[in-house]
Amino acid sequence: MMNRGIVTEPGQAPKVAVPPNGTKHSPNLAKWLNANRRAGGRPSVYRNIDGLRHIGWLEDDGWFSGARLWRVLGDGRRVKVFAFPPAHGPWFKEADFWDRYEAIGRCAIDEAHTRHFIGDDTRWREDGDTRECLWCGAHRQERHRWQQIIEREGWRPVALAALANPHPKGDGV
Ligand SMILES: [Zn+2]
Repeated sequence: MMNRGIVTEPGQAPKVAVPPNGTKHSPNLAKWLNANRRAGGRPSVYRNIDGLRHIGWLEDDGWFSGARLWRVLGDGRRVKVFAFPPAHGPWFKEADFWDRYEAIGRCAIDEAHTRHFIGDDTRWREDGDTRECLWCGAHRQERHRWQQIIEREGWRPVALAALANPHPKGDGV
């Protein structure tokens, strides 16, 4: 199942097929994977001590080569691989990440379903005031409406005549 859409080239890690916009899988992540291939195969997804997801390779000496996963989703192949020193660790591997990503796409990255993606219009099926996620099929939301009271402050013009003659009735100047 994990090899679907992957073309093997001799001497290199497999090339990943780029999905079209609007599918549950990220075209930008596929482009980044193709631009950052290593003979060892696909990189892994880790969380660091801050809880932020990174994609890359944990080296034997404790350095991590990779990038923030959210940046990769947004900017694709333009996102450079950085070397993070061991002080950025420890790194916790999400061993089931690729299985979950294969099954439910970007919902494996946006579990809370609060982010907007390219192709988001194919993600939701609306029915009145509820909508369900078609990518994972396991998340439903309902519409909320509310009013906000906003306090503002600013400046308004005052008629100049009133300033020049504060006592228009002329009482004893
Ligand atoms: Zn979902």
